[in-house]
Amino acid sequence: MRFSLGAYVIAAFAAGAAANAGDGPASAPTQLAWFQARSIFHSGLRDTHTIALTFDDGPNAFTGAVLDALDANNVKATFFIVGQMAKTHPEMLARVAAEGNLLANHSASHPELTSSFDDDPNKLIYQLKNVHDFIAPLMKQTDTLYFRAPYGYWRSAHATILNADPVLRNYVGPIYWDIGGDISMRDGYVMSSADWACWKHKWSAQVCAKGYLREIRRDNGGVVLMHCIHAQSGELVAAVVPPLVEEGYTFVRLDQVPDYKQYETPQTAPAVADAAPLRDVLRIASNKVK
Ligand SMILES: [Zn+2]
Repeated sequence: MRFSLGAYVIAAFAAGAAANAGDGPASAPTQLAWFQARSIFHSGLRDTHTIALTFDDGPNAFTGAVLDALDANNVKATFFIVGQMAKTHPEMLARVAAEGNLLANHSASHPELTSSFDDDPNKLIYQLKNVHDFIAPLMKQTDTLYFRAPYGYWRSAHATILNADPVLRNYVGPIYWDIGGDISMRDGYVMSSADWACWKHKWSAQVCAKGYLREIRRDNGGVVLMHCIHAQSGELVAAVVPPLVEEGYTFVRLDQVPDYKQYETPQTAPAVADAAPLRDVLRIASNKVK
């Protein structure tokens, strides 16, 4: 497949418009810290020639090939862990952490977090606590905690509930992505890819990689969404990463993304008393945090 600049520019614009369809970007943090009422859509990495690879839904047996491909290129990434996968593959989870990658939280069982989780807050809290208990013992105490909502689906009421929890309020999230959200084609060219959709269409890892590379080069950096649980996952990483290393891209974990710092819970924030009414907790916090 030959690279065509004209087609590239037009398709890039179309793909960019599609990527943020729906909720739209939040222009400023809705709170100064903690869980945000809306997904954090912008990483600030676009146009910085910096990539944060994120791998969702694992770990499983296929995650090993992803780790091999990262290691071969001396690249560290962030893994959004699902609790029921961590439970089944504890040794792979330990390997992800041991190789210098950042563990993050992607819920216990990957449900769409609908309003039923606001009706029963304990159900929501369980979804995060379950994963926290798997990943926290493998993380450094100074590591920042990140959460990504399954399917990117989020409600502001979730933030209110989770910010009242003394442990979960230390998370930054929900973290969205810049690149890898959707497949787009233009004049027969793959202009952007989403790995799960590539496999659904029975594309090879090499073809899928073209979409990732074109979207990354167009944006010149960003948070990239991938998954680490498919037979082709390792091959995809092995196809995407080396050309970018060659082109001088810097690879970072999410805790090296400067724009996310503004969402971290300040250490000076008051401790949350178990029995304190939520509105008091939030009022105290908003008075204190500047
Ligand atoms: Zn997921």
